[in-house]
Amino acid sequence: MLCTHAHQRAPVSDTATSRQRLSDNACVASRSRVHGGMQDRIPVLIYHDFYRQEEEISEAPGAERRYSLSVAQFTLHVERLASLNYSLCSVEKASGSRAVAFTFDDGHISNYTCVWPILVERGFTGTFFIVADWIGRAGRIDSSQLREMSSSGMSIGSHGLTHTGLAGLAEAAMDRELRVSKERLQQLLGTEVATLALPRGLMDRRVLERARVAGYRRICTSNAGLMRGGFAVPRLSVTSFTGVDVIEGYARRDALLIGRTRAAQAARLGVKRLIGVRNYETLCRKILGTP
Ligand SMILES: [Zn+2]
Repeated sequence: MLCTHAHQRAPVSDTATSRQRLSDNACVASRSRVHGGMQDRIPVLIYHDFYRQEEEISEAPGAERRYSLSVAQFTLHVERLASLNYSLCSVEKASGSRAVAFTFDDGHISNYTCVWPILVERGFTGTFFIVADWIGRAGRIDSSQLREMSSSGMSIGSHGLTHTGLAGLAEAAMDRELRVSKERLQQLLGTEVATLALPRGLMDRRVLERARVAGYRRICTSNAGLMRGGFAVPRLSVTSFTGVDVIEGYARRDALLIGRTRAAQAARLGVKRLIGVRNYETLCRKILGTP
């Protein structure tokens, strides 16, 4: 079963974001402050799962299917960026005007079988966000595969313990999601796990505060934008509808394109708030003609 999902975007307040941006990640942050231009900001792409044959995903609900890419699509993205001399890397290693960070949420087995070989073959890296409780479940990456990926230079981050949205959770439950997932991955890999991707993209000021206390140095969100060196890292979602020219535009740090992406996301959020998330999903299914 596919377990991709539409990450709900819930931007943290500007005040909280700007305060978080003032600290942490000092190296990249200072570079941003010195130069400050678009070239100094890094696009961080979000992928989910992949398929080789259309039949593999034909059973999945439409809302989930849009987050599944064919391996051919992904290969096209990698080859286009490589041909333009962009360097595809993990969030942790991303640096410089040619860097494009690749992230993969949910630990789907296709990240190991399809994506990892493509990255290794070209000397690229990526950050794989793993739900600790899902390790080794049907259709998910298992422990030995994770170790193999980590040893080859891939970064492994936490995507929570159970994939529960963190915003609004009681403190003990939130801490458990943040800490137990981190500890379990660290124990498994023998390396520090200091990056978290927010399950379902849900975030508020408390989530950022508790994540910092739990020892994370970077929180990847689902809010559209470029990484500028702050604690909260915006990302750009890639769906099956995202064309390779858009991927190239993101790599180019195309301000107009990224501005349009942010505006579209804000509009979707507005509609969701207005009619409710459940009604919004029903509306999407009707528009897309999907089950
Ligand atoms: Zn997720």
